[in-house]
Amino acid sequence: MGSIGETTLEIDLAALENNFRYLKSKIDPETKFLAVVKAFAYGSDMLAIAQKMENLAVDYLAVAYTSEGVFLRESGIKCPILVLHPQPANFEELIQHNLEPSIYSPNLLKQFLQFMEEQGKLEYPIHLKFNTGLNRLGFWENDVDFIMEQLKNRNEIKAVSVFSHLAASEDPQEKEFSQRQIRSFQKISEHLNGKLRYTPFRHMLNTSGIINYPEAQFEMVRSGIGLYGYGNEEKVDQNLKPVASLKTVISQIHRIEPNESVGYNRAFTSEGFRTTATLPLGHADGIGRHYGNGNAHVMVKGKEAPIIGNVCMDMIMVDISGIDCKEGDEVLVFGPNRSAEAFASSAQTISYEILTAISPRVKRVIINS
Ligand SMILES: *Cc1c(COP(=O)(O)O)cnc(C)c1O
Repeated sequence: MGSIGETTLEIDLAALENNFRYLKSKIDPETKFLAVVKAFAYGSDMLAIAQKMENLAVDYLAVAYTSEGVFLRESGIKCPILVLHPQPANFEELIQHNLEPSIYSPNLLKQFLQFMEEQGKLEYPIHLKFNTGLNRLGFWENDVDFIMEQLKNRNEIKAVSVFSHLAASEDPQEKEFSQRQIRSFQKISEHLNGKLRYTPFRHMLNTSGIINYPEAQFEMVRSGIGLYGYGNEEKVDQNLKPVASLKTVISQIHRIEPNESVGYNRAFTSEGFRTTATLPLGHADGIGRHYGNGNAHVMVKGKEAPIIGNVCMDMIMVDISGIDCKEGDEVLVFGPNRSAEAFASSAQTISYEILTAISPRVKRVIINS
């Protein structure tokens, strides 16, 4: 294997396309598809991913914060963009960049309506978010009358869609709860549709929802993690390809005598003779301290090298005793054949967290574009 030379996050757009096609195969051809590209497209490269999804004719993109949508618009993305979590402070930028807000509370609805009135806008697209059990963001079912009261005889905004979010779509133990959420959402949307003079489209499923509750796909689905190659389940992961591979390189090799310590606070002490490699990757790159002290390992020449001692800001030390390798050799942290989910679980966390943690200073390289 050649070496990538420095710490690099490789972004494989062919893997993204594969995952998109796989997820599409799980839903009806008419069902719209929204690609969630928030948080730098789950820590990869928001623009490269959004452009690729636009080329693949995705129906919608979603970001969490308004600034993320502004970045996409300023970079030339034309696709409709749903902003999942806007604030009143963002309204001006939001409409300047033709971004479509999720309206999730009575307070936000009133403020947005008033703002639209001042702007003299007509039929500005919004998306009504309902809480059906996650208890995070969203109107409650009994807010429907309030919403209708607000929208009645006004045409500043148009609720192009109604949506909700499952609390435990990946958990088979919570099937009953998920189904209750789905029924509740159905009831809410019927109630609303009966009162509006148009019919908003509906969406509820995230990646695991697409896999586990395809009967609740309604008119659109929203996928994030699945597009990036992880399905919260090994069986699903077999059909997906990791988009991001985190690779690094051996800067220096040390031979450690028995009873020597390695790293800050002398957190590791060698029992026998050990060989260690120092890698240019630390907590400032997204590898949190909980990955250290033997909890997680990286792959060197296909073999497991545990992270020993404390994770430093810009470095980790790994135990390469018995592995035939040299300074300059490539090291795989996660990617194909080394799931980010497995790496994350060794530090008690999930793929979502490690993927979105990789800091902007790690060089991104796009492959298979
Ligand atoms: C982040 C997010 C998603 C994507 O979920 P995945 O599990 O990554 O597919 C979908 N909907 C909402 C509201 C989200 O916040």
